[in-house]
Amino acid sequence: MNSDSVAMTDLSEKMHKPETVCIFGTGDFGCSLGLRLLQSGYNVVYGSRGPKNSLLLPKGSNVMTHAEAACEARVVFVAVQREHYGFLSSLASDLEGKVLVDVSNNLRRGLYPESNAEYLSRLVPGATVVKAFNIISAWALQSGGLDANRQVLLCGDCSNAKQQLMDIAQSLGFTAVDRGSLRAAADLEDLPLQLFPLWRLPLNIAICLTAFIFFYTLTRDVIYERVTNGKDIAFRIMVSLANKAFPIVSLVMLSFCYLPGALAGFLQLYNGTKYRRFPDWLDRWMLCRKQLGLLALAFGFLHVLYTLVIPIRYYVRYRINVYTISLVKDNKTYEFDNMAAWRYDSYYSMGILGFGLFVLLGITSLSSVSNSLNWREFRFVQSKLGYITLLLCTAHTFLYGWDRFLKPSSYRWWMPPAYMLSLVVPCVVLILKLILITPCVDSKVTRIRQGWERQGKTSANGRDTKTNQPLMA
Ligand code: NAP
Repeated sequence: MNSDSVAMTDLSEKMHKPETVCIFGTGDFGCSLGLRLLQSGYNVVYGSRGPKNSLLLPKGSNVMTHAEAACEARVVFVAVQREHYGFLSSLASDLEGKVLVDVSNNLRRGLYPESNAEYLSRLVPGATVVKAFNIISAWALQSGGLDANRQVLLCGDCSNAKQQLMDIAQSLGFTAVDRGSLRAAADLEDLPLQLFPLWRLPLNIAICLTAFIFFYTLTRDVIYERVTNGKDIAFRIMVSLANKAFPIVSLVMLSFCYLPGALAGFLQLYNGTKYRRFPDWLDRWMLCRKQLGLLALAFGFLHVLYTLVIPIRYYVRYRINVYTISLVKDNKTYEFDNMAAWRYDSYYSMGILGFGLFVLLGITSLSSVSNSLNWREFRFVQSKLGYITLLLCTAHTFLYGWDRFLKPSSYRWWMPPAYMLSLVVPCVVLILKLILITPCVDSKVTRIRQGWERQGKTSANGRDTKTNQPLMA
């Protein structure tokens, strides 16, 4: 064999020799990670306090002392709780030049002054620390990322070390996302402690709105009837009242999706620049528009279901029978009202079209669908079709109420019908939008959004935009 072919054989052996990965800790996470690594073609060695007692490790892995295991691999996962990191400082020489992967999480925020990864980096200064895999559960590792989050967020100060981790994450079936330097570790450690952070505000709004509308209609419809006429119509709570509250919540929440955008437009006009931060409350509101919209869609869906059962309700069938019999008894005919036919057909048509577009908005807000749209397509659906949906649903509500607001009997205890309340926010949003799309305002907003700034206004950094000098108090 000549020297060239020996070199080739060495290279191909190197290329095909599985890489060895070391894991410190033989607990839940260490075991699941080791199993997944073995299944993906890696060699796995465990570093443990008691190598002889570790019996439940995945088949094919080796277990030894921490120092021995560290010598076997370039990458060492520290699958140990942060409180026990102390032993690592005594291994500093064995870990010199290694990539140390911090997978740890904390029980609550602010438990330690620095992130676990930065603490690890301080304990073992000769190693390169990368924070990764902490948002993946032991269960997700075992199921290969199919049943849970498929993203591995990572951060670190060395791009080579991060690349090694990205390669490992990819071969394990995950998508690696680089979140920057090790300073971002604290944010990554906070992530698993959050419980649906973007859903909290929309859910609270939905609960408060539903409760308010429900008690409003309960007072106006059921309690009023009981107090003034002595009639017990409490059975209406189950379907009628629910079917009054759900569409109102749906419409108001849909308009809440578009209100912050309109307010932001006016704020930019007022500031004369887009380079000034919106107030925090507006920022938070803008961030949860998708969740507001999806909840609004859920309420709209409930409204559709409740509406579908109306014809089979006992109360409705009873009322129709009584009315028909009374017509027969009195020998009267039920005159066809052309206007009513127009009104009801238009009312249903607006509702169906509005709901159809609403479903389309919901589908396009799903990441898998929105990822396949370009920015213009996404904006067209979410903004243009969104406003059309709001317009159709508002028209649907107007047609429902028709001229009822003119009748004094509609105002019980001075309380207007609930549908009238539901029209306030959508009408405000539509009027604001109408102002924003008038050519003179629209051209100004467009210029501001393209970077134009009104002269003499303070920019984001508190400087005069004309002179670029700091403004004196
Ligand atoms: P665990 O089941 O309690 O296992 C921790 C392992 O650490 C033990 O099995 C032990 O291994 C080792 N250990 C315990 N005390 C030690 C000490 N005083 N000195 C040195 N080593 C010690 O915990 P885990 O659930 O696997 O979690 C491990 C790490 O992964 C944690 O930082 C956790 O935040 C993180 N994590 C876990 C999950 C999860 O789903 N479980 C998800 C994401 C991140 P030996 O006996 O072999 O030494």
